[in-house]
Amino acid sequence: MVHSEHKIIIKLKSHFLDIIDTENGFLVYEDLLLNMLKSIQSLINAEEATLYSYNNCKQQLLIEASTKLIDDQQKISNNSILEITEKVKEKRNVQRVFSGFEGDGLLLNLKRNDHFLGVIALKGNSGAFVQFSDQVLAAISLESAKFLDKAQFLTKTASEEKRYKQLFRVTEKFHSTMNMDDVLGEIIYTLQEVYPTFTYYLLLSHDNNKLSDLPIKDLEYDSENIAAMQAYVTGNIQLEDSIQNKRSVMYAPLKGKQGVYGVLQVIAPNTLVFPNNEVEFIALLANTAGSALENAKLYQQSKRLVADLKLINETSHRLNSNMRLTETIAYMTEQISSSFDAEEIGFILLSKNGSQKEILRGSTDFFYKTDAEIYIEIVQDKIEKEKEALFIGDYNLPDNLPVKHYKSIMAVPMMQEGVLKGFALVMSKAPYHFSFETFKLLQSLIHHSTLAFTNTMLREELEKMVVTDHLTKLFSRSYLDEKIHKSLNEDQEGTFIMIDIDNFKMINDTFGHQIGDDVIIQVANLINANIRGSDIGARWGGEELAIYLPGVSLTAGVLIAERLVNKVFESSEPQVTISCGVSHWSKGRKDSYAALFKRADKALYVAKQTGKNKVIVQENDIVLEKA
Ligand code: GH3
Ligand code: MG
Ligand code: MG
Repeated sequence: MVHSEHKIIIKLKSHFLDIIDTENGFLVYEDLLLNMLKSIQSLINAEEATLYSYNNCKQQLLIEASTKLIDDQQKISNNSILEITEKVKEKRNVQRVFSGFEGDGLLLNLKRNDHFLGVIALKGNSGAFVQFSDQVLAAISLESAKFLDKAQFLTKTASEEKRYKQLFRVTEKFHSTMNMDDVLGEIIYTLQEVYPTFTYYLLLSHDNNKLSDLPIKDLEYDSENIAAMQAYVTGNIQLEDSIQNKRSVMYAPLKGKQGVYGVLQVIAPNTLVFPNNEVEFIALLANTAGSALENAKLYQQSKRLVADLKLINETSHRLNSNMRLTETIAYMTEQISSSFDAEEIGFILLSKNGSQKEILRGSTDFFYKTDAEIYIEIVQDKIEKEKEALFIGDYNLPDNLPVKHYKSIMAVPMMQEGVLKGFALVMSKAPYHFSFETFKLLQSLIHHSTLAFTNTMLREELEKMVVTDHLTKLFSRSYLDEKIHKSLNEDQEGTFIMIDIDNFKMINDTFGHQIGDDVIIQVANLINANIRGSDIGARWGGEELAIYLPGVSLTAGVLIAERLVNKVFESSEPQVTISCGVSHWSKGRKDSYAALFKRADKALYVAKQTGKNKVIVQENDIVLEKA
């Protein structure tokens, strides 16, 4: 090589160095190649320079860069490329071509360690390249091959660095969010950044499909997607190369510690085999995403559990706070309506043999209408047969009955000690409105509240029973006590009459207890017949009865007592008599319930002592201190 040619090589090397030595360190592969061509072009005064690189897979040359305009590049037919391929492969490093080109042509073979990289085609005016020796051209081709190799290595390293930076960024992002949508969105976004030409889908199982505009597909057992299913089930990456469709598909499981949460489908077009280093990167991303999804899912699950427990706790608490049944049911209805977004909530109580039912007050209005009957009937039928809760997502009424259609139905039996007491019925018009979790929650809610319901019902029944004495149907003593206390606070005065049947033991002994009872009832009926609605006739205990007359003066009270003594004497059968002790209180005096009772009791004692069948008024004004 002559001295001037040496200089050319040195210049070329220094140009190549400049190309790589960029200030901002940003290497774009296409720019590197173009600058390489431009350097060669200027050094040997070529009109144009084109780099064909050899694709090992396709076994052919493809234009990779050219100083020519893109439009013109495309004019180079496949034929001429093939022709070049044939010419250059396995041949000398430098060929001077004088055909197939206008003017002079040069083909510089690019080889590294006997590995064919491609070829640089140069075009010049006629005779332009005659001045360069084969030696210098060979040196140019060697340097270019070295440069091409380096450029590929550098850009590969740079892109790898970029990818791992992305991975780092995405990992950070994953750990900062507990939102599943965000995690899934981030996976897609990152992949689109790194491999813009690939297509992505997230294959997720049915339960998390309400998500935004992400490319989500259902993960289903269908024969077309064996590879996806396999990835999901085995937790291993599956690759599917399709020569027919000229594409390669990768299925990467989104795997956490406890399970697989879905599959990432990556479709690489125009690729026969999925590139190995991409597989590694995508797998890494999918794994990271799997853990993040797991975290987010666990977090959401625990949040939901906490909310569920709160609801159950709050409800149990309220139910045990001595509410009336109607209040209790209304409260439950409200809770279910707001927590489950349910439209109709009904509590249906069944009688022992199920022949009668009662819609508990506090249910939504719908349940008192005729439209509700068909639903109640169908659900009752099922629940009585199966004794299990019902969860229906898309219910169709038989024969298209002309009633409101509720597609989503949940029904939970109210069981106590194995006995079906009734059921709760929750409905919404939209199909599949309730999730399975909601159903589970409703079950445990009803389960927890059934005891409280039945207790409340029992208590209210007991209260009713306690208010009236079952034998005489007079008020109970506790009710009388309550009313006297109330009257002492609210009224101006009041009269209390204690009544005892005379010689009652004898009645029992003579006629038997049955007749004895009947006599007590007769006296009770006479009491009821001789007092007003606001007066309280009560059974004090045994054959002792009492009357309290709120707001009634002593004189009036004594008249009532005397009238009663006469009536009993006249109309009882067998004939009995009664004795009465009367006491009175009026506002302004320090008085108490105990003192009122004591005075009447004392008067009654006097009546008994002085011949019975009479009325005795309180002897003196005993006033006791309030207890
Ligand atoms: P006195 O005139 O002093 O009241 O005499 P008495 O026989 O009525 O005596 P006392 O009041 O001490 O006894 C009441 C009796 O009434 C005692 C009890 O066996 C009877 N007795 C109490 N409750 C009932 C009841 O619900 N039904 C019946 N048949 N008898 C009762
Ligand atoms: Mg007595
Ligand atoms: Mg008696």
